Order: sequence, then structure tokens, then C-alpha cells
Amino acid sequence: MTANISFIHDRQFVNNTTLIEGESQELVDVLQKIVQNAGALLDVQNCSVALLDATQTTLVTLAALQKQGQRLRQTRFQLNEGVAGWVAEHREALIINNVSLDQRFKRLGRTPVGSIICVPLIDKNSFIGTLTASSQEIDAFDEKKVRMLSIFAEQAVLAITNARRAEISQRQANQLETLMHLSRSITTSLEPDILYRTILSELRRLVPYDLSVVYLYREGAQELYSVAEWYSIPVDVSTEYEENKRDSGVKSAYVQRESFSLYDTHSVVALAAAHRHPMLHAPGQNGQDVTLAELATPFVSKGLLYGVLLLKRKQPFDSEELRLVRNLSTLAAAALENVALFQEMRTDQEQLHAILTSSSDGIALLGVNACFVEVNAAFGQVFGVEPQQVIGMECMELLGYAEEEEADYCRELCMVQQALNKEEALPYIEVDLQIQGVPRSLGLSITPIVSPEKTLSLLVARDVTSIRDAARMKANFLSMITHELRSPLNAINGYLDLTLEGIGGELNEQQREFMQRARAGSEHLYALIEDLLLASRADSGQLRLSREIIHLQDVIANAVEELELNARDQGITMVVEIAKDFPRLYADAVRLQQVLRNLISNALRFTEQGGQVTVSAWVEDRDALTMDSSDEDTRVIKLQVSDTGIGIVPEHQERIFERFYQVPDGSNGRSGQGLGLAIVKMIIELHNGSVTVESTPGRGSTFTCTLPCLLS
Ligand code: ADP
Repeated sequence: MTANISFIHDRQFVNNTTLIEGESQELVDVLQKIVQNAGALLDVQNCSVALLDATQTTLVTLAALQKQGQRLRQTRFQLNEGVAGWVAEHREALIINNVSLDQRFKRLGRTPVGSIICVPLIDKNSFIGTLTASSQEIDAFDEKKVRMLSIFAEQAVLAITNARRAEISQRQANQLETLMHLSRSITTSLEPDILYRTILSELRRLVPYDLSVVYLYREGAQELYSVAEWYSIPVDVSTEYEENKRDSGVKSAYVQRESFSLYDTHSVVALAAAHRHPMLHAPGQNGQDVTLAELATPFVSKGLLYGVLLLKRKQPFDSEELRLVRNLSTLAAAALENVALFQEMRTDQEQLHAILTSSSDGIALLGVNACFVEVNAAFGQVFGVEPQQVIGMECMELLGYAEEEEADYCRELCMVQQALNKEEALPYIEVDLQIQGVPRSLGLSITPIVSPEKTLSLLVARDVTSIRDAARMKANFLSMITHELRSPLNAINGYLDLTLEGIGGELNEQQREFMQRARAGSEHLYALIEDLLLASRADSGQLRLSREIIHLQDVIANAVEELELNARDQGITMVVEIAKDFPRLYADAVRLQQVLRNLISNALRFTEQGGQVTVSAWVEDRDALTMDSSDEDTRVIKLQVSDTGIGIVPEHQERIFERFYQVPDGSNGRSGQGLGLAIVKMIIELHNGSVTVESTPGRGSTFTCTLPCLLS
């Protein structure tokens, strides 16, 4: 079988202008007129035009002088013999004045012939046929008549070439129209089954076939498998169809039964796929069986193989049909590529849809102006609305955020708005909202999705009201306990002070020492309870700032004064750097003093004798990058506490602001609860500020608070 398989080379696709079968009636009419005129002028009874057929070996009579009503007999005669053979070979006119004396003449019809003239029909150096006139008489023709016949021959050539060109253009126009129609119908179908059916049915309008099959290529397994077949045969043609006999007359059958390797050299389909090139298999005989002609063209788009189209029939395929099938395959390949992309996209979309619908988290996609583009059912539930209701609505509108509201109150919502405006990520934030009149707590996170066409944001929302309530209950409980602990501790401290002052009688040396230790211990306990109380108040949402117009110089002076004695005892120098005319700020003085107290006491605890602790404050222009154009004041206060102490290793610097976090072995025997810096951070953030640390182990640490509380 392989021996008959042939590659199709592009040069084989030259336009074949040789037609006989479908020669147009107009051409035959013109030729008929030519023979009539030629016959009349030459005064003969017999005159005919014969043209070469597609095989280029046979001449077929297309027009002849004949009696009224008589049907033209399409006489066929071989080119390599007789008068026509000689004329074709020599490409010149031939006169035989007495046919009985010339071997070249062979009588074809019943009419007796005495003499004959035959002129070649030459189109651009190609022999295309003959114009022949004969007479029953001997010596009926001379050179003059040859010239006359030659003129008619030229006219005939013109008529033939024109008619054939017109015929070819008409056919091509029809094919083009079919291809365009086909292109439209196959590129619009994205359902694979419909596409295969369309390819095969449309193909039938272009090229007749008995059986056609669409194979798809499975890249991983390097194999081809059939996905659609179309029979259009009376099925007794060949044993090749044996297995399909029961399907006789069935127009189409879609089965997945045949698959073979890409490297199967016995199959035209595999060869066409492997070589990415059309393959032809001529019809023939295989023992008893008739083998059908096969034409296989690969579906290749952008260098990728999608499958193969196979056609089978009894008659061989010609180059014109091959060209058409190849064009169709190119169109079909593009359509298959679309289908593959669509399928891929649909799978992705289905997966995405499944995630969206099954997720218990509210998920929303935000588009231009942070408006909802898509939301899942859970998102609707979180906000107590139907998902469709929010499509097109602005996110901040749904969150009930009005910019004019007090910034303190909706600090988290401000952050959400900023993240959306600047298309930035917001890892996780908890906001308190009124949803349908009920206070709820939502955990929100925003992730920008940047694609070349547009920017979208993904908003994930989860109702954390119950978690928040539980946390608040815990914090309330802690707050209550610590509060209750504080009162008896106050009393203990008071009585210890009274005892130490000798109100209850003179103390001996040992009693005094014991009392002093007890006093130090209870003071430490008191400090711890104070810190815990503050943290639990913040957690239960009870911690509110009481802001007023303050002078930072005073706050710093008070904090330094509180700890000056400790510094002196430890042999540490305290330095304060702040301008006398430092602008006033709108802040909570008590809390800021607490910040400074925590930072300075830490600095003193971690600095050796002879070291220095510096408290400084200055006004600075806000970092241009983080500056929000909507903020009126572009200046911030920097409040800094730096020391020349032991420093903090980098891996702990991030975590020291967490509650109860202490640098392992970093305390150096100095006591602490790991709450001091967490409280600093909490207070500074309540002021909408931030706190950072820079530290070099062995050289010291610098804690910097940035506060946007300047009075303009
Ligand atoms: P604590 O009350 O235990 O000191 P903090 O939250 O105040 O808790 O501090 C956390 C940890 O940070 C401390 O345990 C300490 O190791 C480290 N730290 C804080 N301030 C300094 C400083 N100025 N120098 C060195 N280490 C510090």
C-alpha cells in the first residue's frame, strides 16, 4: 500500500485548463458555428473540431458538420496515430489529396473520404486539438483552403481559451463562495461535534467522496483517533466497506473506534500527520479487493498539528480537488484551534465557577471604579443581598462608606478605599459595618489582578462577627479581671508605703528590706496589670483616644523626668532634642507619654552603663511615594528614641511588636512581659501613625514613630 502513497508537491497544483467532461455548452455552440462557416467556405460536407482531453492522449470531437437533427457523436481517437497524430507531432497543417494513397489516414466514420485537410489548434505553443475538413472527392483542397482553415483554427483557439478561462473563473468563484460559506459556518461553531459534522458536510459540496473521516491528534500519546465519519455511498463498492455494510445509506455515524500511531507507515493518515503534508493514495487492486483512492490532509495551524482529514472514493482525486481539500483543511485547522482554546477556556471557567459557587467565603471581582463585576452567592449572603443586585455598584457604596465621616471612626474603611484606588493589595483587615441595621464584623482582603487589558481586583469577604464577639467577650473578661486586680493591688501598695514610712511603728533593717522587696514586686505586678488592661481594652474596642491640642515638648519632658532617676542610677546619659517652637499637635498626651515611657524604659534596660539614650522629635515632609494626594497636610511628626545599647538581631526586629514576644536570651536578665512595644504600636496606630525599628546588634537601636497629627 505504501508504494502507492504519494506526496503532493505544490507545483502539481498548476491550474489545469484542460476540460472535456464539463466543457460549457457556449463553447460547443461557438465551435459548431466555426465548423459550419468553415464547411460553407471550403464547400465541404465534413468539418470537425477535436480537442485533447484531460489525459492529454486522446482527442475528442466536440463539434462537427452533421445532418439536421443528428446528434453529435463524441468520437475519440488516440493522439499517437493517424492524421491528427501527425499534425499534433509536427504542429503543422496536413493535406492529403488522395487518402487511399496515404497510410496516415484511417477511416473512422461511415462516410467515404477522398481528400482531407487537418490544421493544428495551438494555444501559446501548446497543442490543444485539431480542425479537420474532408471531401469525398480527391484533390479537393489546395494551399489557399489550408490558409482559410488555419484562420478558422485561430478563431477556434481564441473561442476555446476564452470559454475555458470563463469556465475556470466561474468554477473558482463558486468554490470560493463555498469556501467562504464553509469558513463562516465552521468558524462559528465552537462545539466540537457540530464542527466535525459541519466540516464533513460542507466538504461534500466541494469534493465528492464515498467516506470521510476526521481524526484528531493526541499529542501525549502521539496517536490519531477518529472522531467523526460520514458515509455517502451505496456500500457494495468494496470489501473495505464490509464492516460498514449495515450502515449502508446512513449518512453519518460518529464513532470513536479507530486510533493509530503517528508512526504507522502503512496509513496515509499517519503519514500526512507525521509529514504535515497532504498524502494521496491511488485506487488499485489488492488481490480480490478494490482499494479506494485516499486523500489525507493534515489540520495544521500555527505549526501545530490538530488532526487529519481523510477522504475515500473509487475515482482518483485530481489536483484541483486536492487544492480545495487543502484549503478547507487550513480553515478547519483554525476552527479546531479555536475549539481547543474555547474548550480550555471553558474548563478553566467551569473550574473557576465551581470554586466561586462552592466557596463559603464571599468572593467578588471589581472592575473599573471599583464596581462589582462578578460576585458569588456567599458574597451576597455576607451582605444580605442578591448577588445580581450589587453588579455595577461601587464597592465603597456597598460598604456604606462616606468619605466625610470621621477618619478615626472608619480607619479600616479608609484603608480599603485607598487599596482600591491605588490598585494595591490589602492582605487582611477587619471592619465593623452596619449591615441592614445590624452591626457586623467583616474580614476583608483585596488582591489586584493585573492583566494587559484591564485591572481587576479580587475582594474576599468573610463574616467574622461571631469570632469578633468571642474575642471581645474574652477581652472584656480579661479587662474586668485586671480591673478587679488593680484595686486590691492599689490597697496593698498603699499599706506597704505606709508601713515603709513607719506609720505602723519603726521597722528594723531586715523588715525594711522585706517590705521594700514586696513593694518592688507589687509595683511590677501593677505595671503588668496596667498593660494587660490596656491591651484588653483595645481588643474589646473600648480603647478610645482622648485627643486634645498638646505640646510634644511637655509630653517628652514628663516622660524623661519619670525615668531620669533610673538613668542616673544606671550611669546612662539622657538627651532630649526638640525645637522650642515645635508645632502643636492634636493627640492623646497620656497615651503618647505611655509610648515614650515604654520606649525609654526599654532603652534604659538594654543599655549598659556609660551609654546614652536620646529622645528627639522633628517635623518632616511625608514620603512622596506614600503620600495621598487627598491629604491636606503633607507633613508628619517623627518621634524617636535611640540608644547605644545591645541592639536587636535582624530576624527579631519584625516580631518584637507582637504581643508577648520577647527576644530569646535578649532580656539579659532584665524582666519584661513582651507587651511594651505592642502597646506602643497600638497607640501610635490609633493616632493613624506607624512605628519602625532600626537596630545594629552591639551598637544600639532606634525606634521611630511617625505621627500625622500636626495642627496646621
Ligand atoms: P518587654 O516588656 O519584655 O521588654 P517589649 O515589647 O517592650 O517587651 O520588648 C520586646 C523585646 O524587644 C524585648 O524583650 C527586647 O528583647 C527587645 N527590645 C525592646 N526594646 C529594645 C531596645 N531598646 N534594645 C534592645 N532590645 C530591645
